[in-house]
Amino acid sequence: MSDETPICSAKGCRTAAVWVLAWNNPKIHTPERRKTWLACEEHREHLSQFLGVRGFLKDVVLLTQWQEEGSG
Ligand SMILES: [Zn+2]
Repeated sequence: MSDETPICSAKGCRTAAVWVLAWNNPKIHTPERRKTWLACEEHREHLSQFLGVRGFLKDVVLLTQWQEEGSG
């Protein structure tokens, strides 16, 4: 691993992240703003559900894809 390896955002998890969960809390963020959580394969569903039930979840994309879009 070269520089920093993105780690899953789930509490206590130290696994390398594979997924990016893009979310927005309409009460505190403008509509186009995106907060991101990182998730490993194991925690993707758990974190998605957490955001989903609150109506915050906007997008779930592969980390590699997210990074490509961010740089392009
Ligand atoms: Zn995890």
